[in-house]
Amino acid sequence: MPEMIFQITPYAVICSLGAVTAVVVAIVAWLRRDTSGGKSLTALMIAAAIWATGAAMEYATIGIPGQILWSKFQYFGTVTCPVLLLIFALEYNHMSVWLTRRNILFLFCIPLITIVLALTNEWHMLIWTSYTPSPAGNNITIYGHGIGFWIGAVGYSYLVMLAGTILLIRGALLMPSPYRKQVILVVFAALLPWTANFIYVFGLSPAPGLELTPLFIVIAGGIFTWAIFQFKLLDLVPIARDTLIETMEDGMLVLDTQNRVVDANPAARRLLGKNAQFKIGQYVGEIFNEWPEARTLFMQNNPELKTEYPIEDGAGGFIEISLSPVHDGQGHMNGQFIVMRDITDRIHLDNEMRSVNDALRLKLTEIESLQAHLHELAIRDSLTGLFNRRYLDEILDRELARARRGNYEISLMLIDLDHFKQFNDTYGHKAGDQVLISLGKYLPQGVREGDIVCRYGGEEFLVILPGVNLDDGIKRAEKICKDFSNLPVTYDSYDLNGTISIGVSVYPTHGKTADDLIRSADAAMYVAKQNGRNRVCAQV
Ligand code: GH3
Ligand code: MG
Ligand code: MG
Repeated sequence: MPEMIFQITPYAVICSLGAVTAVVVAIVAWLRRDTSGGKSLTALMIAAAIWATGAAMEYATIGIPGQILWSKFQYFGTVTCPVLLLIFALEYNHMSVWLTRRNILFLFCIPLITIVLALTNEWHMLIWTSYTPSPAGNNITIYGHGIGFWIGAVGYSYLVMLAGTILLIRGALLMPSPYRKQVILVVFAALLPWTANFIYVFGLSPAPGLELTPLFIVIAGGIFTWAIFQFKLLDLVPIARDTLIETMEDGMLVLDTQNRVVDANPAARRLLGKNAQFKIGQYVGEIFNEWPEARTLFMQNNPELKTEYPIEDGAGGFIEISLSPVHDGQGHMNGQFIVMRDITDRIHLDNEMRSVNDALRLKLTEIESLQAHLHELAIRDSLTGLFNRRYLDEILDRELARARRGNYEISLMLIDLDHFKQFNDTYGHKAGDQVLISLGKYLPQGVREGDIVCRYGGEEFLVILPGVNLDDGIKRAEKICKDFSNLPVTYDSYDLNGTISIGVSVYPTHGKTADDLIRSADAAMYVAKQNGRNRVCAQV
């Protein structure tokens, strides 16, 4: 063991800081060891810490024999770092399946041999062939390198680091775009050890013989740690997504570009039921063989289709199928996914609602016609079918208001059957009704359209003739009077011939209100009775 004399040099200080940082990062990474890549990153940082410590001690030691000892110590870190970087890269890419015990052992074979060679260099000089103090001073020694160095420490390390770097860059580039900044940093970090190693191996260092690779690895490790800390959230996402897809009620099928099923969740199998048992890798067309409509849907290759299909399983279920394309980052379609939703309840509910609606609509029409009928009943007299007194009160006021606005006359006829009491007594009430019915039938024919005929009460009728003056009113009343007296009415075997007396009044001559006008017509009718009946009278 050579005697060691130490001296603080700038590079020794820098490397010490690197070693401390490496330890800190290793601790942080260890605390996050549950995240994929956490454990290997811890190991990588421990290796970097060994390397940096060795380098710091080397630059702090005066005398080549002491420095060689520290160089040997560094090798524990130097040759393991690339392998640990590759392991980290594999974990970072979720490719831990490759990290079997055997593979890991295999990866460490050459580093172990290289370490042994470094430790036993005096005997064979395969790693170092010469030691020359650097002209830059500061305890830097330029090492001459043997074949063991070129194969074990450079060739193999580069190979392993190349694989690791490619994996890291690949993993970073697969990150979703919101993580672009992180991606750039990870790629940058992955390239750092390369740069440093290049500088050393090809003698491009500012001070000949100076190696700062461990420092670069420490920086890279820091960035990776930060990155996987961020990814911890991201790790969660795929797990949550998988769980969701596995447990959700909607069925999901993922198809590749050839329409083969590459993934399916349990709900998809449940929904398709016995109609469509399928295997992963089967063509979707085969699955929906029994289901021609669904088949055409997939054959159309129409993006984002949505349709409903009845399941022919006897239970009368319905599935809604929607088909959406899956695009990669460049916008190329690299598959499709099908989402199936059980809409049986909805369809049944829809149908139920529709039939309830139909029934309601039917009821509504019934009610409407019933209402119309009721209204008719309310305004019609049951015996003659003419308008009744109630309707008269309503309509007469309206007609008078209209005449007032339009400034025209209205004639009123009050018609009363002559000696009707006696008629009833002679032929019976039924016969009397028959006469009332006959008059009720005749009157509407005897007037013009727009005239209104009402049964005023008992054996009295009232006719409203809008726009008819007194003279015309009297003339038409006389015609009615005459025609009715000639109207044959038969009941049983009787020929019943009745007469009527009519009192005429006119708006506005005989009054402006319905009451006044009816009173005047009534008075005129009374006069007609007095004058011998079967005639028409009006007040002067
Ligand atoms: P006048 O020529 O003076 O009018 O004699 P009249 O007998 O017709 O007189 P009055 O007004 O006193 O009698 C009306 C009669 O009309 C009484 C009633 O028996 C009869 N009458 C009223 N309404 C009805 C009905 O709905 N059916 C039948 N059959 N008779 C009715
Ligand atoms: Mg009467
Ligand atoms: Mg009468």
